[in-house]
Amino acid sequence: MPLNQIISEIRNRQRIKPSAPDVPTAVWTGYDNHKGKRIDTLTIIFKTSGCWWGNQGGCSMCGYVYDSSQNPPSYEDLKSQLQKAMEKASSLEEFMVKIYTSGSFLDENEVSTDVLKYILQALNQDKRVLKVVAETRPEFVTDDTIVKCRNMLKDTEFEIAIGLETSSDIIRRDSINKGFKFSDFIKAAQIAEENDVTTKAYLLLKPPFITEGTAIDDMEQSIDDIVPYANNISINLCNVQKGTFVEWMWQKGQYRPPWLYSIVDVLKKSKQKHPETIITSDPVGAGSKRGPHNCYKCDQDIANAVRRFSITQNINDLDFKGQTCGCFQLWKKVVKLDEYTYGAFIVDRMMQ
Ligand code: SF4
Ligand SMILES: [Zn+2]
Repeated sequence: MPLNQIISEIRNRQRIKPSAPDVPTAVWTGYDNHKGKRIDTLTIIFKTSGCWWGNQGGCSMCGYVYDSSQNPPSYEDLKSQLQKAMEKASSLEEFMVKIYTSGSFLDENEVSTDVLKYILQALNQDKRVLKVVAETRPEFVTDDTIVKCRNMLKDTEFEIAIGLETSSDIIRRDSINKGFKFSDFIKAAQIAEENDVTTKAYLLLKPPFITEGTAIDDMEQSIDDIVPYANNISINLCNVQKGTFVEWMWQKGQYRPPWLYSIVDVLKKSKQKHPETIITSDPVGAGSKRGPHNCYKCDQDIANAVRRFSITQNINDLDFKGQTCGCFQLWKKVVKLDEYTYGAFIVDRMMQ
């Protein structure tokens, strides 16, 4: 059975809870690296009609599709979402705004041109906003959409963020079901560059069906491949989201989220090779069964080291107290033995 069909069947069994269309899905403040310095960030997840690709199946690990609104929010609803989100930034002096929609900000069916113009004009007029980052699938990056954004934002920095996940077309198709190719990402990044817009690539460490060792190699290779096109690279660690194909595999004992040592390994090697590229990672859900984890005892130390490195880009920050934890040798063994189990659990059950 094709992967998209299995994903669609899992999605059709889920219930989406009704929620107010004039309130964003989520808003929070945090930090990021901006031109080598730490900067405050305001992350807004707008509630829209959702990702067109996700609405017909979509990616194997994605639970964001359940964040969308049952009825498409109106112009007034989205204006109100922005207003509520900006209240969270009331105490910030200078910051970066990261826009997500659980889909594509540049998809006109999700975010109409009128709404897009309203949001970007408002952000441009707020002189505290130094940079806007907006996530989109690459098929919506055209001269037309990018010029429209550039005109609204004027001299405010603009970056498009694309969930490329991997430079391997095979892994992206057979493990993730992403529905686009590496060449689509390259084309989008080139259009962006021609219009003075930077590109951020999101990668995904350890989608289903690949081993821990292959996952590490895949990230290192992907970073080598995308450095010419991406100004920023952010590695997401696959976690088990509700109502996804990954959750279905995990419940059967056929998927384990990545080890935190694996992201440390990738960051150390890749940063040494590409010192000029910003490479970050936020290990969401670290130390939980559904999130990336080691033995559960050393997880927070390592996750904090990864977060520190993401701000400073200094590989010395990847040295952490938990390095002496006994599970380090176990991880090394898993990387070897995993080749025989295709990414299924080896040691988690023994630890329970
Ligand atoms: S493209 Fe993004 S939002 Fe759409 S299904 Fe895939 S991961 Fe989810
Ligand atoms: Zn440990």
